[in-house]
Amino acid sequence: MVCMSGGKDSYAMLDLLLHLKQVAPINFSLIAVNLDQKQPGFPEHVLPEYLAGKNVAYRIIEEDTFSIVTEKVPAGKTTCGLCSRLRRGILYRVADEIGATKIALGHHADDLLETLLLNLFHGGALKTMPPKLHADNGRNVVIRPLAYCREKDLQALSDQQSYPIIPCNLCGSQPNLQRQNMKQLLAKWESEDPTRISSMLGALGNVAPSHLLDKTLYDFDANERLGAEPESTDIGSAQEIHLSIPTTGFPVRRMQ
Ligand code: SF4
Repeated sequence: MVCMSGGKDSYAMLDLLLHLKQVAPINFSLIAVNLDQKQPGFPEHVLPEYLAGKNVAYRIIEEDTFSIVTEKVPAGKTTCGLCSRLRRGILYRVADEIGATKIALGHHADDLLETLLLNLFHGGALKTMPPKLHADNGRNVVIRPLAYCREKDLQALSDQQSYPIIPCNLCGSQPNLQRQNMKQLLAKWESEDPTRISSMLGALGNVAPSHLLDKTLYDFDANERLGAEPESTDIGSAQEIHLSIPTTGFPVRRMQ
């Protein structure tokens, strides 16, 4: 189930998955799903016309989450948290209804780093969004096929393909300022040293629990790694991510 927002990333994800469907050594089918959240001015004809033109099976789900968030969230507060939770719940339900075994989301490598920094600076946690995630309900599996793609490459693909982009500010929500700050920080760091972003992405697959402070991952008295189960929501194991890194060209620079 390919979740289509109408943003460049979702169009690129669909194209890449359609290509993989042709060349991958496994069989799978795709269905594009768009959630029409009833934001004012949502151009509801755009995605159906695009998807029909590409001969892609699709479903448009109409759920007025816009009214719910505007009613529940006090004026001036960002609505993205509640909106995202509502959207995620609806997408899980739709996946069950249509029998989808995977829910594909269009987060890319830059999104992963922004989330990493948000958690680091504001959440007190060392984590981001994994390429594969078992939902808490035990049924749905979320995948992020663009997890190793840089946003600038997706932008180049979008420009080349002239995707019919649906603007992401229709809800009128305040932009997520902290995320924008992380984006600017990453851009600044990359301008200072172009290898920095690759190194950070490589680091996500090269975790050393013995050099951190998490006692649930490492027994510092016994000097041994603990076989702790990953959180129920996370099946993107370090090994799985690490094995994927070399093929994606994210170098890992090792320092003492
Ligand atoms: S920007 Fe608008 S549509 Fe997107 S998550 Fe935030 S509230 Fe929802």
